[in-house]
Amino acid sequence: MRVGFIGLGIMGQPMALNILNAGYPVTVHARRPAMMSPLSNAGATACNTSAEVAANSDIIFVCVSDTCDVEQVILGDDGILKGIKENSVVVDMSTISPSATRSLAKTLSSHNIHMLDAPVSGGEQGAIDGALSIMVGGDEEVFNRVLPLFKVMGKNIVHVGGNGAGQVAKACNQVVIGQAIAAIGEAYILASASGVDPAKVREALLGGFAGSRALESHGQRMLDRNFKPGFKASLHHKDMRIVMEAAHELGVALPGASMVTQYLNAVIGNGKGENDSISILELQEQLSGITVNKND
Ligand code: NAP
Repeated sequence: MRVGFIGLGIMGQPMALNILNAGYPVTVHARRPAMMSPLSNAGATACNTSAEVAANSDIIFVCVSDTCDVEQVILGDDGILKGIKENSVVVDMSTISPSATRSLAKTLSSHNIHMLDAPVSGGEQGAIDGALSIMVGGDEEVFNRVLPLFKVMGKNIVHVGGNGAGQVAKACNQVVIGQAIAAIGEAYILASASGVDPAKVREALLGGFAGSRALESHGQRMLDRNFKPGFKASLHHKDMRIVMEAAHELGVALPGASMVTQYLNAVIGNGKGENDSISILELQEQLSGITVNKND
């Protein structure tokens, strides 16, 4: 099975490397040629265009930024559709709009090409460790065809439903994670304002119902004031736009998600979009005039 991978950023790079290290022949393309070097040094074939990747692959993974980027990579000049053969599979692992995903799947299907949406959770470390959570939408038979490759990249792989269902699951994930970050930030503000060490509060909370992977990982990085991404605030901002658009389309109220969206609007407004999305903490600190420090 020949594998293509397009988009070699924080996530795409280690995901493609894991596929290569599992013994599959891999062809890659990234917009900036320098991003392909680690892959080509490890034995992958670098291509100038997405069309070229598609022409040399049976299954083509895409991991780029936003809805318009996936549309460009698939449908644009020199895009996947220009090189792909019938019965091949396009697997979009970016986080994008569920409704745009359904529309892309329909377009590809009219060319006898299969599509899965397979957004992920687990961050850069999960991608490096091959331990991502992968939420898949599309036909079950196509899912089973790609499953061995998903197993190289992830641990918790769930076929959620038809096309777009994976993206809906991912939007739900971002609703939960965004509010978890905001809730942890509030807890740390309360602890610090009370003269109690937020690191000790985290330690205490980890053993009870408030314990979570978010408190474990994001909570620690917030205490370390490590705002290096990880997961860029600009991408979480994009994800919350997808969530709010879906809420608007469906006529459902998501007030908590709306609050997170406003925090992220402000992170972007403050020029911190390239920081990790835990930068929400800095805004919360400004609101109360408090800085969260370990050992307060
Ligand atoms: P990233 O580091 O910014 O990488 C995105 C890559 O996509 C970049 O290499 C970029 O190329 C490429 N790209 C963007 N638009 C493109 C276009 N129109 N044509 C060709 N290439 C394009 O982002 P990331 O963190 O890897 O995230 C990728 C996707 O995974 C996003 O949808 C994100 O929401 C999702 N995700 C990320 C995480 C995380 O923790 N980082 C976790 C789960 C899901 P350039 O380098 O030239 O800009």
